[in-house]
Amino acid sequence: MSPALGNAIVTGAAQGIGRSIALRLASDGFNVAVNDIPEKSAELDSLVDEIRRKGRKCLKHEGDVSQDNTVKDMIEAVVGQYGSLDVMVANAGIAGPYRKKITEVTAEQFDQVMAVNTRSTFLCYKFAGLQMIKQGGGGRIIGACSIAGKKAMPSQAPYSASKFAVRGLTQAAALEFGSHGITVNAYAPGAINTPMLRAPAKSQEESDTMMERFKQMSPLHMLGSPEDISNLVSFLASKDSQFITGSNGGIFFD
Ligand code: NAD
Repeated sequence: MSPALGNAIVTGAAQGIGRSIALRLASDGFNVAVNDIPEKSAELDSLVDEIRRKGRKCLKHEGDVSQDNTVKDMIEAVVGQYGSLDVMVANAGIAGPYRKKITEVTAEQFDQVMAVNTRSTFLCYKFAGLQMIKQGGGGRIIGACSIAGKKAMPSQAPYSASKFAVRGLTQAAALEFGSHGITVNAYAPGAINTPMLRAPAKSQEESDTMMERFKQMSPLHMLGSPEDISNLVSFLASKDSQFITGSNGGIFFD
């Protein structure tokens, strides 16, 4: 087995897009630390096994990434055990209340979406940035924006607001970290076939109808797969992407 390309962290890695990114970065040659909430411990364990079977080191770090200490401890553990942090993927996110108008959303629901989607991204960017600046060798920071971070989605105000904020953070971090050779980009996909996308459906029939509607929203008339995102992240994490920063890549033409 060739030496590792570097060391990466992926948050919200137990399922969906995060899981696919963690596996892809391991296949690319990175050691990978994987995070999710304690309720997803069993899923994380099976991911850790799969990554280790690829011959890469893998560290499991449970915890809520909207909390400072979770993010700080995770970075400390990776640097302590593997020597450096080279790639940070701030993927964890929640959809928040479905089909609720602003007049129906509680302040607590709004705060929770902002904490998990935006505060956690801020914390990952901040503490990964500090570590990579200290190392002095550049780095790659990648966040999870969304099509909803470019144009608000109906009846999903907290989610849309949280992803607009991720777009702002990504641009701001790109400006501030660029002189250190650290690039900061985010993926901003349309509908990707994951548990998050299917969660609101109450029956198989409703799920199928929703998926059909999502397909029609895409110029390609298809749903994306988690691998469509991990292919992009693989590129953004590589040396080949050295001149791309501040971008929120997605299916929108902007
Ligand atoms: P998902 O719900 O399938 O997976 C998200 C993971 O994040 C889950 O395993 C969950 O337990 C974890 N998580 C939630 N809160 C956490 C916390 N506080 N700390 C740590 N982990 C936490 O979602 P997904 O579809 O794979 O989405 C991944 C990211 O991509 C999210 O940020 C999402 O907003 C974004 N995104 C998804 C889509 C899509 O269509 N699926 C589209 C655009 C953007």
